[in-house]
Amino acid sequence: MASSPVKQHKFLLDESEMPTRWYNIVPDLPAPPPPPLHPGTHQPIGPEDLAGLFPMDLIAQEVSTERYIDIPEEVQEVYRLWRPSPLYRAHSLEKALGTPARIYYKYEGVSPAGSHKPNTAVPQVFYNARAGVKKLTTETGAGQWGTALAFACSLFDLECEVWQVGGSYDAKPYRRTLIETFGGTVHRSPSRLTEAGRAFPEDHTGSLGIAISEAVEVAAQREDTKYALGSVLNHVLLHQTVIGEEALLQLAKAGETDVDLVIGCTGGGSNFGGLCFPFLREKMAGRINPEIRAVEPASAPSLTRGEYRYDFGDTAGLTPLMKMHTLGHDFVPDPIHAGGLRYHGMAPLISHVYELGLMTATSVDQTACFDAAVRFARTEGIVPAPEPTHALAVAIQEALACKETGEEKVIVTALCGHGLLDLAAYEAFLAGRMTDSGLSEEDLRTALAAVPAIG
Ligand SMILES: *Cc1c(COP(=O)(O)O)cnc(C)c1O
Repeated sequence: MASSPVKQHKFLLDESEMPTRWYNIVPDLPAPPPPPLHPGTHQPIGPEDLAGLFPMDLIAQEVSTERYIDIPEEVQEVYRLWRPSPLYRAHSLEKALGTPARIYYKYEGVSPAGSHKPNTAVPQVFYNARAGVKKLTTETGAGQWGTALAFACSLFDLECEVWQVGGSYDAKPYRRTLIETFGGTVHRSPSRLTEAGRAFPEDHTGSLGIAISEAVEVAAQREDTKYALGSVLNHVLLHQTVIGEEALLQLAKAGETDVDLVIGCTGGGSNFGGLCFPFLREKMAGRINPEIRAVEPASAPSLTRGEYRYDFGDTAGLTPLMKMHTLGHDFVPDPIHAGGLRYHGMAPLISHVYELGLMTATSVDQTACFDAAVRFARTEGIVPAPEPTHALAVAIQEALACKETGEEKVIVTALCGHGLLDLAAYEAFLAGRMTDSGLSEEDLRTALAAVPAIG
C-alpha cells in the first residue's frame, strides 16, 4: 500500500458496513462484572431502582447478557445521516513520521455533533420517546454530549435541559450556542436551580460529578422527565460498538487481516469501549491478537492511578454505587482542555475488562497531546478534538518506535471528534501558554479518602 493522494484515503463506504446490531461484550467475558449497589442499602440494585431515571428498554440493555441487540430501524435511519463513518489510513502522517507502521483512524467527527456522542444520544432519546417521556436532563463537560442529546431530542420532539460544567461554559460559548441551536436549554453548573448546585459557590468551575448531581436531581422530581448519561454506563458503551464493528468491516475491505494495536482515549470510556470491544471479541475468539490500550490524561488518571472500588458516579452521591477505577467522587480535575476526559471514574465495564488483564492503560500530559494534534492536523488535514489527541500521541509514539525496529505494525485508533470548537485550546498551545498539570500524590490521597468503604 504505497502512499496515495488524499482522495484515496477514504475507503469505499456502503451501507453494508453499517451494523444492524450492537455488540454486548458481557456474555463473552470470563467473569461477570460486579453489580451496581443501592446508595442507601449497599445491596445490588434491581431494574426498579433505575426506573425513575431511565426507560425500561435502556435498563434492560444495561443489565443484558445477550451478545447482540438489534438496532431499531428508526435509529438506523438516523445513523444513516452520517454512518458508516469513514475509516482513513493516515498515509501523510505515516510518511511524515517515516514509519513502516500503518495507522488507521476511525473518524467520528463527521456526525452532527462533531463527535461519537450521537451514536448513543439517538437510541437513548428514541427509547425515552417510545416510553412517553417528554423531557431529558443531562450534564455536559466539553459540550459534546449536550450537543448530541439536544440534536437527538430535536429529532424525536423531546425537551432537553443541560447542565454544562462551569469552566467549560465560560470557555466554550459556541458549544452553548450549538446546543441552543438544536433546541436545548443550557445552565451553567453549579447552578442555583438545584440543591446539589447550591452546595457550591456560584462562580465555582464545576465538575462533571456536580453537573450529573444537578441533572439527576431535576429528573428525579418529575414523572415525565428522565435523565440521560453520555458515557460510563453499559448501555452507552453498547451503543458505541457501531464504531468498532464498522472498523472491523472496513479494515477487512482494505485487506488488513491483522491488527497489532488498538488505541483509544478514555474519559468515561465510551468511545474506547465502542471501538475496542468488537476487536476484543475477535481477540478472545483467537482470530486476531492486538494489544488494546486506553490513554487518559495525566491530570485525571482513573485507570492508571485510581483505585478499583465501589464509588458514586456523581459528587452528591445520588447515583448507584459502581465498582470502577476511581479518583474519588468529589475529585475535581484541573481544567485541562480535554474537558470530555475530566471525569473521576472509569466505566465499570472498562474497569472490569482492565482488571481481567484484557487491556492496558497509560496516561499523557496535554502539551504532548497537542504536539501530536498539530502534527496530525498538518499532515491529515483534520483538527482533532483535544480528547482523541491522547490516543494520537501514543499512536505516533508507537509508529516512531516501529521506525527503529522496522516493524510494520497495524495501529487503529478512533478520532472521536473534531476540534473546530476547541480552537481556544489550540491558540493557547500555539502561543506557548499551555501548561501541564499532573496530579500530586497528596491530592490523590485526599480525593480517594472520600470513597465509601465498601468491598
Ligand atoms: C465525551 C467525549 C470524550 C470522552 O468520553 P468517553 O466516554 O471516554 O468517550 C472523548 N472524546 C470526545 C470527542 C468526546 O466528545
